[in-house]
Amino acid sequence: MNSHLATYAEKLPQTKAAVSKVINFSCVDGPGSRLVIFLQGCNYNCLNCHNPQTIDLCDNCGGCISSCPVQALSWADNSTSSSVKWDTDLCIHCDTCLSICPKQSTPKTYHYSVADMLLLIRKNSLFINGITISGGEATLQLNFIKSLFEAVKTAPDLQHLSCMVDSNGSLSESGWQKLLPFIDGAMIDLKAWQQATHLWITGRDHHRVFRSLALLAAEHKLYEVRLLHIPGKTDFESEIDALADYLKKLPPAVRIKLNAFQNHGVTTEAKTWKACTEQDIKQLAGQLSQRGVGPLILPAVYI
Ligand code: SF4
Ligand code: SF4
Repeated sequence: MNSHLATYAEKLPQTKAAVSKVINFSCVDGPGSRLVIFLQGCNYNCLNCHNPQTIDLCDNCGGCISSCPVQALSWADNSTSSSVKWDTDLCIHCDTCLSICPKQSTPKTYHYSVADMLLLIRKNSLFINGITISGGEATLQLNFIKSLFEAVKTAPDLQHLSCMVDSNGSLSESGWQKLLPFIDGAMIDLKAWQQATHLWITGRDHHRVFRSLALLAAEHKLYEVRLLHIPGKTDFESEIDALADYLKKLPPAVRIKLNAFQNHGVTTEAKTWKACTEQDIKQLAGQLSQRGVGPLILPAVYI
């Protein structure tokens, strides 16, 4: 387990979530048009991560403050605790602070209470079908998700919005039980078929992923399984028969989505890995279709 996880509870304000980004409108993160909240922090350390600065929580060491060329970073005026303040108006998004940070973190995070987030959702509620909470790994901030979705589901003006979670599937069964009453569905990443491959790519084993998939499928809350194809690295092609047998046994309503690995933004050895082309995806899709898996959702773009 990453060491930062043990101190999550101390670092996060009790009622606030650490948020790396909010997108007011997305049509690729669940059904229809959606407001998507990306939470900061992840318990995986994927070689292919495109946003490694979202893995750790900032510990307010202050190391990045002096690196900012436009003084967008400073110590917050708070005599009881020292925290780094980010001025979004001054920031020119040069990302110098990210390169300075000794952790996989960023000073560029927001802290939203449930009330703050409800305000934002209400501003956008006429234009969206629902809300998706993603990450990082969203479920590390389980209490925030539960409180926010509970508030949405009990607010007469918001309860028509669907509530979805995008997760790596590592949440425990008891964690899912807390969320199930308030979520309409979940999108789960299956990052590799074999345990050894999953461990190599993510730094974690995948026994909880399969348990999450089984639980969500049984509860009719599994909306989508996502397979990220990294040609020659992930093992979906070499394990195609076992993978197809597994996917065919999922309820027919579950979407199987193939995603194509791209190497831009990656900082590990994975930046030298070959990007996944449309032809690579069509080949994997063909192998799955021949074995009766489908319909499959393929990438709209390859960039
Ligand atoms: S990304 Fe923004 S906060 Fe970070 S160094 Fe650049 S200007 Fe400063
Ligand atoms: S972003 Fe990194 S360098 Fe900056 S204060 Fe946080 S932990 Fe320190």
